[in-house]
Amino acid sequence: MKSFVSCILVFAVLQQQLTDLLPGSASKKTILPAGNIFIITIDGFRWQEIFTGADPALISNEKYTPDTATMKMLYGSPDMEGRRKQLLPFFWNVIAAKGQLYGNRLYDNKVNTSNIYSISYPGYNEIFTGNTDVTISSNEKNVNYNTNILEYLNSKEQFRGKVAAFTSWDVFPYILNKERSHIILNSGYENRKDDNESAAQQLITKVEDEAVYDKTATRHDELTFLTAKEYIQQYQPKVVYLGLGETDEAAHNSRYDIYLEKAAEADRMIARLWHWVQTTPGYKDNTTFIITTDHGRGKKTGNWSGHGAFINGSSQTWLAVIGPNINPVGEVKEDQQIYQKQLAQTIAALVGEKFVSDQPVAAAVSLK
Ligand SMILES: [Zn+2]
Repeated sequence: MKSFVSCILVFAVLQQQLTDLLPGSASKKTILPAGNIFIITIDGFRWQEIFTGADPALISNEKYTPDTATMKMLYGSPDMEGRRKQLLPFFWNVIAAKGQLYGNRLYDNKVNTSNIYSISYPGYNEIFTGNTDVTISSNEKNVNYNTNILEYLNSKEQFRGKVAAFTSWDVFPYILNKERSHIILNSGYENRKDDNESAAQQLITKVEDEAVYDKTATRHDELTFLTAKEYIQQYQPKVVYLGLGETDEAAHNSRYDIYLEKAAEADRMIARLWHWVQTTPGYKDNTTFIITTDHGRGKKTGNWSGHGAFINGSSQTWLAVIGPNINPVGEVKEDQQIYQKQLAQTIAALVGEKFVSDQPVAAAVSLK
């Protein structure tokens, strides 16, 4: 076992050095910044559903989709373009028209994790710190000592006290080192401690405390979203992170129907947030959304519900971006390789900063 683990470590280090040397990882163009950035993640949501919609085999399979008839009527359009639009109308009506979508492997446009584990904590570490860390190999609640982009931005005068994160999964206080980073962070079923709590936030807290009987490590995404939206309306942060988690939960429970419903709800939440941003002074035409996932999942009908180092497809992810200075090229259909660790520097560049950390930070994605 020990030699096996060290073999994995050597492989990971080699892979990392190799990807650092790839010419495509260098930023060629300067990204024009906007004043605000919203980072949104949909946990363990596959590129396959983003680009091709509901999988016809999985929505016809009673094992994963108990009521196949309803799911087919909702999401089972005969063509791929129709299916993806049924499932994710914000992605395919708005982002496809005004933003950019990366990761459609049918065109060899690829987004991958650099970390070899393809599970959540290593993925979020990679997204936010701009590098992999082979010692982060589990989802256990261990404090992350790597510097993340959110705390880096919070250390800058322009963004100080204006960085806020809301996550469904309760491991984020460790991933983002809440104690050290001093960002506003609300995770899982933790109550928002706020002396100036709005009436709506009081109601959300009451629902969480008194009406959710099945509290798990992942709060209902709708409650995470409403908490985030209340905070944003009340305090106008410049950097927002919204971490949604129920897609992964549904997949692990082998429920493809619920996985689709949670993805459709996430699409709707992002649409509501974008609409709010585009109708609010200070945010309107001054806010970029960057949307991604922490890992992929199995590619096949038999293993889509799982993910990890030994499940083929788990390192395959995707990336969407929309904002005032983002070229509206829509779905990118050319041969390209993007790595998850490039996102931290991309986030920095989208608000006109350069992320400097104790460890090397991968170059920003060269956006079209
Ligand atoms: Zn998972």
